[in-house]
Amino acid sequence: MKGLSFLTASIALVLATHAQAATPPAPQHYSNAAWTQPQKPFRIYGNTYYVGSHGLSAILVTSPRGHILLDGTLPENVPMIEANIRALGFRLEDVKLILNSHPHFDHAGGIAALAHDTGAQVVASAKAAKALKLGGEDPDDPQYGDASPYAKVEHVRIADGGETIKLGPLALTMHPTPGHTPGGTAWTWTSCEQTRCLSMAYVDSIALLTANNGHYRYTDPAHPERIADFRGTIDTLAKLPCDIMIAPHPDSINLIEKATQHGGNNPDALIDPNACKAYAAKAQVNLDERIAKENAKSKSPAR
Ligand SMILES: [Zn+2]
Repeated sequence: MKGLSFLTASIALVLATHAQAATPPAPQHYSNAAWTQPQKPFRIYGNTYYVGSHGLSAILVTSPRGHILLDGTLPENVPMIEANIRALGFRLEDVKLILNSHPHFDHAGGIAALAHDTGAQVVASAKAAKALKLGGEDPDDPQYGDASPYAKVEHVRIADGGETIKLGPLALTMHPTPGHTPGGTAWTWTSCEQTRCLSMAYVDSIALLTANNGHYRYTDPAHPERIADFRGTIDTLAKLPCDIMIAPHPDSINLIEKATQHGGNNPDALIDPNACKAYAAKAQVNLDERIAKENAKSKSPAR
């Protein structure tokens, strides 16, 4: 009987696992309702499409030899992203690679399910891969303790800084941009329409935030690399090939409004070769403010 009850339990577990894969988690209430708000997918430029929610980017770069998806947003958005990919006329099983901006739940929470459903391989920097495998619970994350956990991504192929990931005619280059998280990454590629080819840049978040418990300080003298790394990120951002900048939070650059004005298919509104340089300047401001804030805190009398 013990054997039988074990078998019953095993079947129940298998059924539960399948049920979990088929049923996305119930929508939660996020501070930003746009994160789960449906968004009609649209072409950004050439073979680059927006397939995310209204408030969180997921980007599809397509080719006849397979597609690359950047970011998975939230777990409950997975059916929306999959429907958006299909609505554009593409097949889920043709998504061969999934890349990530940074391994927080609002950009990576859906990656495990998307990798499962498409069969795609997940590719990330070594530091991002570590966080993805931990389901976001990375002790080296400045927001560790506050950042929500998500489904662990079991298999991640490591990409080195400067490495170009290829899939058929597609070639996306990885630029490490640590700061918001240690594994933060910018990805760049080229998309063409007729004879005009443009540099596309998917550029990661640059907000320097820490968990409420304050265990993490960018100015920690034991970790001089934290400031040095972010200074490197600022340099990297300023030098990215960048005709059209895309960000994980589309509202941060009014991406959807610009792209869909005048009824859509309006790439010229998105072209701004100065966008990444301006973003780098903003990152410098964020760093200066963060350093000032932490220095002020360390000088204030202990309570
Ligand atoms: Zn984040």
